[in-house]
Amino acid sequence: MEKSKNSSRCCVYPGSFDPFTIGHHDVLERAIAMFDLVYVSVLNNAIKHPVFSVEERVDMIQRMVDAEGMKNVVVTSFDGLLVDYAHAVGARYVVRGLRATMDFEYEFQITALNLHLAPDVETVYFMARPEHSFLSSSAIREIGSMSGDITGLVPDSIHNIIAERLRKP
Ligand code: ADP
Repeated sequence: MEKSKNSSRCCVYPGSFDPFTIGHHDVLERAIAMFDLVYVSVLNNAIKHPVFSVEERVDMIQRMVDAEGMKNVVVTSFDGLLVDYAHAVGARYVVRGLRATMDFEYEFQITALNLHLAPDVETVYFMARPEHSFLSSSAIREIGSMSGDITGLVPDSIHNIIAERLRKP
């Protein structure tokens, strides 16, 4: 059968990533395996008060992508509506991760609203691995700010940047 000319599958994996954890990393790897191109896109959200600036987060994710030689990943940031951003980069899929209990209600609401705004943009969920379901960026921030050991909870290639930054008062 002839392959469709527009067969390239592109997705946006949006998040705060404040900072990027091995839970995010796992979702990213699974998205890379499924899509031809993955935009990892840091949401510039004026309402939240992140510890890491948008530039720091983009830089750290890019550093990890380079260090691991990840292919077909573009690291960006965006503000405004996610569906507008997805349209702008030509992505018909949004990737999110789902941890047991803590994410469901929020994700359910956001997905319903995004479908209302843009029925052509589908959200795809990867269930968190059981060993990552306890892991959140806020836990990393808390442990790191008290000089606790975050080894194995964030990608090795960006461990030092994250640990040093979180130790700063
Ligand atoms: P948000 O985008 O809601 O601010 P995050 O930046 O922490 O949240 O996460 C981005 C996406 O990754 C969300 O879909 C979130 O559910 C998912 N995620 C966060 N932590 C994990 C984890 N440990 N395992 C799998 N997915 C996760």
